[in-house]
Amino acid sequence: MIIILIPIIFLNRNISLVSVILCSVFRLFYYGTNIVSLGYITIFSSFFLLVVVIQLIVKQNQVLTFIYSILSASVFWVWIYLTNFDGYHSYFFVAVVSDYLNFVILSSIAYVSASYLYHLNNLLFQTIEESLTDELTKLRNLKDFNAKMDDGFLKAREKREAFSLIIFDIDYFKTINDTYGHLAGDLVLKNLAKTIKEIEELKKVDVFRVGGEEFTIILTKKNGTESVRIAEKLREKVEETHFYYDNQLIHVTVSVGVTSLVKGLRSEITSNGFLELADEALYHSKHNGRNRVFISDVFTGEFK
Ligand code: GH3
Ligand code: MG
Ligand code: MG
Repeated sequence: MIIILIPIIFLNRNISLVSVILCSVFRLFYYGTNIVSLGYITIFSSFFLLVVVIQLIVKQNQVLTFIYSILSASVFWVWIYLTNFDGYHSYFFVAVVSDYLNFVILSSIAYVSASYLYHLNNLLFQTIEESLTDELTKLRNLKDFNAKMDDGFLKAREKREAFSLIIFDIDYFKTINDTYGHLAGDLVLKNLAKTIKEIEELKKVDVFRVGGEEFTIILTKKNGTESVRIAEKLREKVEETHFYYDNQLIHVTVSVGVTSLVKGLRSEITSNGFLELADEALYHSKHNGRNRVFISDVFTGEFK
């Protein structure tokens, strides 16, 4: 039991608790109720709590946590042994030593393997996250957008749910680069991303950087009116924000395009066609003075 408890406890307390419960159930069936007694539960609960305390004290230090828990587990082991708790121990010196060594070696192997798997799992998760994140703005990247767009769009179309897409592009960004330099442009991109994520409706929504200074937002279950309201809020927020580089104020605006699937209505449009409609609305904003929002009708292609 300790062998299972030790490796898992440092990685995830909930899994550890589940393993304690599973082991208890197993022992209950195997040995009967005299082994899974109140005392048994007390011993393992106190061990569990002790290791949680150790974990809190030594925080992230894996080696220290391991050493302290092996030591404290040894105390519990001796306790179980001396009280002959399991009722089957032999008290010959050699048997006791070999039992103890068994316990330490198996615990160590289990701990090292679990830590290694945990580390690999973290690394994998981090690598996947990095491959889907835009390095400069920390927004989601084009690869993530393509996957989520296809997936979300097809589901929404099939279920005839509302589904909207916002595309926006910084106005005259080339001029910003030419006037203040490429580094200033980079800083604007970074701060613009931060500013957008401060908008209440977008805090829990993925914003994607799909090109140099072009971004998208997928709004599942949001209709055209709601999406245009969010797009308008975004446009206003960017217009009102003061971006600075080297104490120089840089004025930034964005042009926005929106398109929406209408709830309850059947549509034959493809994911690419839908994207093109939003793009056309964006270009309509560009050609009509920039710093504005247009929505293209998914049935007629008209702009509003
Ligand atoms: P419009 O209002 O029509 O969108 O004009 P624009 O100047 O914003 O558009 P254009 O597509 O002509 O220029 C986009 C510029 O964005 C060109 C490129 O130098 C710049 N750019 C793209 N990616 C980056 C980046 O990562 N950092 C910086 N600083 N500039 C970038
Ligand atoms: Mg632009
Ligand atoms: Mg552009």
